[in-house]
Amino acid sequence: MFDLPFDFPDFVPGAVWLVGAGPGDPGLLSLLALHALRSADHVIHDALVDSRVVGLARPGAVIEAMGKRGGRDSARQEDINQRLIVLARQGLRVLRLKGGDPFVFGRGAEEALALAAAGIPFRVVPGITAGIGGLAYAGIPATARATNAAVAFITGHGADGGLPDGFDWDALARGAPAMVFYMGLRHLDRVVERLLAAGRRPDEPAAVVCDATTPRQVVVETTLAGLPEAVVNHGLKPPALVVVGEVAGLRHRLDWWRPEV
Ligand code: SAH
Repeated sequence: MFDLPFDFPDFVPGAVWLVGAGPGDPGLLSLLALHALRSADHVIHDALVDSRVVGLARPGAVIEAMGKRGGRDSARQEDINQRLIVLARQGLRVLRLKGGDPFVFGRGAEEALALAAAGIPFRVVPGITAGIGGLAYAGIPATARATNAAVAFITGHGADGGLPDGFDWDALARGAPAMVFYMGLRHLDRVVERLLAAGRRPDEPAAVVCDATTPRQVVVETTLAGLPEAVVNHGLKPPALVVVGEVAGLRHRLDWWRPEV
């Protein structure tokens, strides 16, 4: 496929590869991900994967959309797991293609556990997660020496669809100088309330990054207290990342991205 001085691992029939497709821009795919797309017999992609990435699949490969998207059009996770197992047992090379990184808020862990339990050989190909790659396209570094020695990646809703409550919001607010929320729009009012109640400054820099790395990318800079209103005023929609912390304030100097014309 490329003139490269190394070989790719064989995508053996009967195996499943869990592959991260990155946040959108097809140029952010890994070489292994491209190799998997060019080799697979059956591609099952989730709703977040950019159509330009799916379009790189080998001609003749079967393409199937199956994924969760904010509760809509949702295939049950158990059905997805079973589908992967059934196809692999038919001797197909099965590519499970997920947005960003399969092991970051992507249910890749559940799928890998199901494959392991069923004795299906699998491989994991990491992808660039939206919380890092999408931020970079918004001109927001995940860390900068001057602003934060730590960054927290947080899901904006828990397994039951409500606000995640399995962790200590006060400790998070004290311990994470920069926070990146995935799936953060639905419960944003309550997230902001909790962070303010835990002592975060209302005027702390914050940003919302929608459709990062795609031609539709939109970034809105605001403050922690201003987040809910900014989302309404700008009509912001998922997929979106919410960033809170001084790093968000670097964007006005680092905003490098321009849509391709
Ligand atoms: N596994 C994925 C995350 C899946 S959860 C990853 O590693 O990136 C889905 C959430 O990811 C979305 O609700 C949104 O918060 C975020 N996300 C994924 N792609 C995005 C994009 N292009 N722009 C902004 N947010 C994105």
